[in-house]
Amino acid sequence: MKIEVRKLNAQKKYAGEFNFGYTPAENLCLVPLAELTDIKVSGSYEIFDDGDVEVTMTVGYKLKGQCSYCLEPAEKEITYTSDVLYVTGRDGDDYRYDGISIDLEPAVKDAILISQPSVLLCKEGCAGIDVK
Ligand SMILES: [Zn+2]
Repeated sequence: MKIEVRKLNAQKKYAGEFNFGYTPAENLCLVPLAELTDIKVSGSYEIFDDGDVEVTMTVGYKLKGQCSYCLEPAEKEITYTSDVLYVTGRDGDDYRYDGISIDLEPAVKDAILISQPSVLLCKEGCAGIDVK
């Protein structure tokens, strides 16, 4: 999950695309009774003259588990696209890198955490367990 910025600059490849699967070392699932599967990351990058790198990234994954309301099996596919900027110098909201290579993992993790719903439902408007 690295973009070798210095190498690409030397090869004058200032823009390109990437595509990979991702298996996080830690559990990034925030939804109870569910798990994250099939995480896929794709996107493109552009290296600017000053060394900043703009990354447009789409993270897709499947949430699979039990409906948060009725406990029936449930799954949902989620796709999330974000634009992030990697910078070498200044502080701010951007991701920092050392000018040599970019590690996409922090941005991918953030995208997975931001895009997760608070509940997983078997269907839209699930009424929950039917108590009679
Ligand atoms: Zn349900």
